[in-house]
Amino acid sequence: METNVLLKAYLKRLRLPTMARDFEKLAQEAAETDLPYERYLLSLAEQEALAREASALRIRLKRAQFPVLKTFETFDFSAAPGVPKQKVLQLAQGEYLAKAENLILLGNPGTGKTHLAIALGVAACRSEKKVRFATAAGLVNELLEAQAQHELSRLERQLDKFDLVVLDELGYVPFSKAGAELLFAFCAARYERKSLLVTTNLEFSDWPQVFGEERMTGALLDRLTHRCHILKVVGDSYRFRESQEKSAEAGG
Ligand code: ADP
Ligand code: MG
Repeated sequence: METNVLLKAYLKRLRLPTMARDFEKLAQEAAETDLPYERYLLSLAEQEALAREASALRIRLKRAQFPVLKTFETFDFSAAPGVPKQKVLQLAQGEYLAKAENLILLGNPGTGKTHLAIALGVAACRSEKKVRFATAAGLVNELLEAQAQHELSRLERQLDKFDLVVLDELGYVPFSKAGAELLFAFCAARYERKSLLVTTNLEFSDWPQVFGEERMTGALLDRLTHRCHILKVVGDSYRFRESQEKSAEAGG
């Protein structure tokens, strides 16, 4: 018994909590089935590695700050014929991240852009990428607040660690001049180094309206759309259709 107490202490000190938790139970099973020593050690090491991966994924998903968890499994491609399915699933493999390419999902409200953006973000988390989700307006507020508190460079360094930043709903809320400039600087800093995924309902020609200044918008669009996958999501609002179907079922 003393052996087990000591072993548990060592495993904990070596930061192998799953092995510390499971070794006795697995040892008993190994004895009963005459498992070779190496196989016993292998299954213990496997448990530890799996638990570690699962917990790392949980942490990445938490840091990503997704508003809700959405995946491709819950996306009904047959209900969205305007979504280029093959292209989306190919992007989910994550090659664009290695190449620091950008993604723009462009389409009307309710066509599943945010759902797809989150699903792509989750897929990136699963392949061990660091992801951060924010609405464009939310990120601009974060940048403005950080600037007011003289902590802008700290926030920028933090954001720079993410392999993928999702900017959701660009174009829903126009920015102040200071806000637009900060967002521009943020996008420019990532150019050709780290990926951005933007969802928007705005045609490119309408972007100056949101950013205010024509010249800056041009420069932003230029960087954003260079080495960029632009996915047009066409179709009716899924939300609207769903509520229509519900009210039809209710006999309304
Ligand atoms: P958008 O960002 O384009 O306005 P969302 O992604 O927010 O649209 O979609 C609105 C709602 O409808 C969300 O709850 C989303 O999960 C759901 N939704 C949209 N399209 C689909 C789809 N093809 N299959 C399943 N759910 C969908
Ligand atoms: Mg959306």
